Amino acid sequence: MTGYKRVLLKLSGEVFGGGNVGVDPDVVQKIAAEIAEVARAGVQIAVVTGGGNFFRGAELQQRGMDRVRADYMGMLGIVMNCLALQDFLEKMGVETRVQTAITMGQVAEPYIPRRAIRHMEKGRVVIFGAGMGMPFFSTDTVAVQRALESKCDVVLVAKSGVDGVYTADPKLDPTATKFDDLTYAEAITRGLRIMDQTAFALCGENKLPMVVFGMEPEGNILRVVQGEKIGTLVSA
Ligand code: UDP
Repeated sequence: MTGYKRVLLKLSGEVFGGGNVGVDPDVVQKIAAEIAEVARAGVQIAVVTGGGNFFRGAELQQRGMDRVRADYMGMLGIVMNCLALQDFLEKMGVETRVQTAITMGQVAEPYIPRRAIRHMEKGRVVIFGAGMGMPFFSTDTVAVQRALESKCDVVLVAKSGVDGVYTADPKLDPTATKFDDLTYAEAITRGLRIMDQTAFALCGENKLPMVVFGMEPEGNILRVVQGEKIGTLVSA
């Protein structure tokens, strides 16, 4: 088994809500336990969380809100997920730092990349919150940017309800088939939507590998980190 030394884990907001709006503490506790296992195995780990369990700017825009303000609401929602995850990690004895792209000194550190790397070297889990701090971005793209800037070996995209990249959304198209391996060029040409296209392009340009896999069964995060071949490997 190969295994990675430093990984960036992307968790979408959906995972935090267990399918509902808001944070489901039972679900977050389970995710935290899996991340704690990774940290205890001596692998450096940073996390980027989404916020779709609270707000998505584009959806609020469709319901009449100004896109920019709605995107900022989205970014604030992300921070709540980060704090919930931090709470459970620290209860498990895993030192954790949240760094946000929008400064909020009382609740988190500001985003300081070199400091984030230092935290990871000391075995702390770093959670990057508030997205890029800029409207019109998605946390998929942020995950890739943070992984590149903090020199991670791979972006791990943990999904709920789907176990890899498919030719089409398997929930909508029963004939969809799963890829074991895929190139970024192919993902972009086929218009695959499991991650946003900007994220695929940024990863591809910088030759950073990505593994898209399912959260179920429990323990998958550690399995992927240790190099077990599950989900879909996307590479340049
Ligand atoms: N968002 C943003 N800029 C960013 C990251 C996120 O404006 O850099 C906003 C955007 O409105 C987005 C929301 O935050 O819809 C939640 O993020 P995302 O949709 O990526 O979360 P996920 O789908 O992963 O749960």
